[in-house]
Amino acid sequence: MQKYQIIPRKFRPKRFSEVAGHKAVVETLKNALLSERIGQAYLFSGMRGCGKTTLARLLAKALNCESLSQDAEPCNGCTSCLEISEGRSLDMIEIDGASNRGIDDIRQLNETVFYAPNKGQYKIYIIDEVHMLTKEAFNALLKTLEEPPKSVKFFFATTEPHKIPATIISRCQRFHLGRIPEEDLIAKLIRIASNLEVEVEREALEQVCTLSEGSLRDAESLFDQLICFGKTPITLALTREVFGLISTEHLFELDEAIQSGNLESAAQLARDLYQSGKDLSSTLDAFLEHFRTYLLTHLGKAPQGPYQKWAGSYTKEHCLSLLNTLLEWQKQMGKMPFKLVHLEMLLFQLVTAKQRIPLEDLALRLIDLEQRLTSEPVTAEIKISPIQLEDPKKIIPPQEKKKEEVFSEPAPETTLEMPKVSTKEDSATEIKTEQKNEPSSPSIHPSHYDTLIRFAAVELEGTTKGSQ
Ligand SMILES: [Zn+2]
Repeated sequence: MQKYQIIPRKFRPKRFSEVAGHKAVVETLKNALLSERIGQAYLFSGMRGCGKTTLARLLAKALNCESLSQDAEPCNGCTSCLEISEGRSLDMIEIDGASNRGIDDIRQLNETVFYAPNKGQYKIYIIDEVHMLTKEAFNALLKTLEEPPKSVKFFFATTEPHKIPATIISRCQRFHLGRIPEEDLIAKLIRIASNLEVEVEREALEQVCTLSEGSLRDAESLFDQLICFGKTPITLALTREVFGLISTEHLFELDEAIQSGNLESAAQLARDLYQSGKDLSSTLDAFLEHFRTYLLTHLGKAPQGPYQKWAGSYTKEHCLSLLNTLLEWQKQMGKMPFKLVHLEMLLFQLVTAKQRIPLEDLALRLIDLEQRLTSEPVTAEIKISPIQLEDPKKIIPPQEKKKEEVFSEPAPETTLEMPKVSTKEDSATEIKTEQKNEPSSPSIHPSHYDTLIRFAAVELEGTTKGSQ
């Protein structure tokens, strides 16, 4: 029986062309190899599992390869390549910076530096998690880095480059490895799946990539876990089940509740989710990812599979409003215990999000109101100087005039006779009678005006402060 190897190890790239992502870095390294301009020290920085040590090992292999190909790929057949692949090369020394971080460890390293390489042309030291070295250890390393023997190369890997002294960094060629793009991750997983003859849905792979957050090692480990579950084909539903995520059925039930505004089914969904033992954090994550998918459809990404059903029902503004609500909840999450009532409130807020007026709309309405106030002095003038209303026809704006003409029973006479007394109550009743006579006029009570303006002013102030 063949020995089981975990996926990240089994499918570790043996050539530069097999590296997922990091095209520019790979190209630079290959050019350096071809033009024989290899630096003394390299620093690879980037998040966990993005391929830092993989690249360092590949570069080491290519440097010592006895028959490097024309496009700078190691042959994987010579003694040096085989020894490095099998981890028994004496010319490639891998040191874990986290567990060998003291000055004595680096002194020991410094002593071996001056011995010639065993078989290959170079002696290569790969120090992983180099930021963990102590200050004294860095100082001891600096001595060697200043004047190393020509046959010695240092490759450092770190997730936290800011913790490395500048004196060390300035002696290295530095490569920052970003997150691996989803397409590259998926392509790699598809290769693995076809190699292992496992049937898998693309949506399942997308879910794995989302969970891995751009880390290839995480993606491969998660995929390994899925394969170990033993069910094929690997579907999105299976993936969500294996990783304990909220099922797609529940997410689409939420869509249904939101679109129909059904609070009862939202409450039922809250109970179901609570019963299934999901915590609030993973619920919020799932919802965020869910509505992000719909938002992406507005940015030109076609909805996949079951998402097609509801994609058309969400506007961009609605998606943003829902995501905003969820992010607000996420901020508050640490401050409260998780109870059923919280989940219910969250779902009710999501269901009613559509009915809330977005701030932008509110601002627009305010501007509109302001414009109308200045062009419609009737209510404002009433309180100040009723004398001006003696000749009302001069004051009534043109659109008001039109309305009067349209109605068969115009009653402006009664409304305009009223404002002789300048008390607030009377001006309010005046508006009421006006409303009765003219149903098409905007039905805004003056006190509503005041409240709305005061509220909107506070909101606007907040917005301008936030945007500064
Ligand atoms: Zn070789």
